[in-house]
Amino acid sequence: MSIKEILLIPDKRLKMKTDLVSSITKNEHRLIDDMFETMYDAPGIGLAAPQVGVMSKIIVMDCAKEEDEKPDPIAMINPEIIWVSDELNTYEEGCLSIPDYFADITRPANIKVRYLDKNEKTIEREAGGLLATCIQHEIDHLEGKLFIDYISRLKRERITKKFQKMAKFEAK
Ligand SMILES: [Zn+2]
Repeated sequence: MSIKEILLIPDKRLKMKTDLVSSITKNEHRLIDDMFETMYDAPGIGLAAPQVGVMSKIIVMDCAKEEDEKPDPIAMINPEIIWVSDELNTYEEGCLSIPDYFADITRPANIKVRYLDKNEKTIEREAGGLLATCIQHEIDHLEGKLFIDYISRLKRERITKKFQKMAKFEAK
């Protein structure tokens, strides 16, 4: 296993759509292991493949963040949301590709998601609470969508500029 570099905005790959995974091989298993290691190391509660530069529909999550909770690693391949509740929920979200920035984002409170697990088994599960938000945030990544796309344009431009400046500074 190895820790991968996490891409930061304004990297263009974070704004691109990803490809469906056509077969789940050793390569995908290795990628999933690396993504978990990278996510736990960061630390974060979710990571999508494009955040480590792989343009495939793969996400990993572990929303058990209280210290007394058992780890709950979930990997989803080709996930799609097949139902959302009318009820909404607001969480303060952050993203490993936009470090140290947080904003309240409102999304459906409950969802149903269909995906393949790493043994190519189709799973359907309902989720609520933090997990529902986390799944939606990660699936957005697979469509090139970031949580800052939900905030006002003014705020988004401000945060994007800040990261553009930092990227330029680091490139020097
Ligand atoms: Zn994110």
